[in-house]
Amino acid sequence: MTQKEQSPITRAMFDQLILPVYAPAQFIPVKGQGSRVWDQNGDEYIDFAGGIAVNALGHCHPNLVKALHEQSEKLWHVSNVFTNEPALQLAQRLIDSTFADRVFFANSGAEANEAALKLARHYAIEKFSPYKTKLISFYHSFHGRTFFTVSVGGQAKYSDGFGPKPADIIHIPFNDLDAVKAVIDDQTCAVILEPVQGEGGLTSATPEFLNGVRELCDQFHALLIFDEVQSGMGRTGTLFTYQQYGVTPDILTSAKALGGGFPISAMLTTEAISSVMHPGVHGTTYGGNPLACAVGIAAFDTINSPQVLASINAKRELFIRELEQINQQFNVFTQYKGKGLLLGAELAPQYHGKARDFLNVATSFKVMILNAGASVLRFTPSLVITDEEIKEGMQRFAKAVAQISAS
Ligand SMILES: *Cc1c(COP(=O)(O)O)cnc(C)c1O
Repeated sequence: MTQKEQSPITRAMFDQLILPVYAPAQFIPVKGQGSRVWDQNGDEYIDFAGGIAVNALGHCHPNLVKALHEQSEKLWHVSNVFTNEPALQLAQRLIDSTFADRVFFANSGAEANEAALKLARHYAIEKFSPYKTKLISFYHSFHGRTFFTVSVGGQAKYSDGFGPKPADIIHIPFNDLDAVKAVIDDQTCAVILEPVQGEGGLTSATPEFLNGVRELCDQFHALLIFDEVQSGMGRTGTLFTYQQYGVTPDILTSAKALGGGFPISAMLTTEAISSVMHPGVHGTTYGGNPLACAVGIAAFDTINSPQVLASINAKRELFIRELEQINQQFNVFTQYKGKGLLLGAELAPQYHGKARDFLNVATSFKVMILNAGASVLRFTPSLVITDEEIKEGMQRFAKAVAQISAS
């Protein structure tokens, strides 16, 4: 062993070794079990962040560990020159449980959205006209960090500074049907939206808006894309959020919780739309990798069970009751947002812009939370977090709020 390998691994190394695009917490997690995480010092944290809505079954769920272990001794990777059993089994499950007839697997939310946007453009060009390329998107939306997806996303600060952007992308206010009416036309290939805007502050689409957008898309032969990377896989109480609205998209993307912590994503669509694709039009090396799909199957079967899905709203209610108790004492929240366990607490005006401070102080009281924008706290815990863990985490969080309100 070299001297370097013997020296302790420290948070300071991050600042020397890693591209400085993140500002991680000062502790380094080394172990997780359920909704608890331990750092290098053995300090225990309650996890209300769930790896940003990824660890939907907490850490090291036995079903996922078993699937990963079993598949790891069979077959890891064969490329898309071959197909594999786990990919076909996971695709079958996704198709059986949704509107979709076809699945494309990728490795991240951005890649699933990249595929969705390319498919929408290609479909419009093949079926209608080379000029049917306009994409309608919404302010505060987030669709990933590839250059196409970040340009489609509704926050210019993330896409500025990288040179010429992909053309024909329009951003308008979310939940504003008149704004959609004003820009949608025969040259529109797709409208893309999150039924609950995840990064953008946990604003839920209104039913009138989703229904209205669906009608307008039909009228102008534009495809409706739902980005359910964050809102899907049980997070809001149904397998996908569109199922609560009864508004069906033409293309849906899933990632984050799809692998419960193992990188995998999927784009779902119909037979008619997928008919414009053929070998060579799009692809990826790892997408549909047997290891990822085996874990995905275990995550899918565990999440898509009546017990888990039916418990989501009761857990949300418990979170809100606990938050309300804190609020009665400290007056920090003005409203609760989102759906199910995609839960937001909007900060009172005097705390606007300070969501990140709440995260940092919460960490010092050993509870992990998130923000969604600068003024909304976000809770995206494991879908199987226990009531006892919610209460214990909230006791810790109450101390953090007390400290902030006293400062
Ligand atoms: C996280 C997220 C993405 C991007 O997913 P990555 O895996 O980071 O590429 C896209 N859309 C939504 C709604 C997300 O929450």
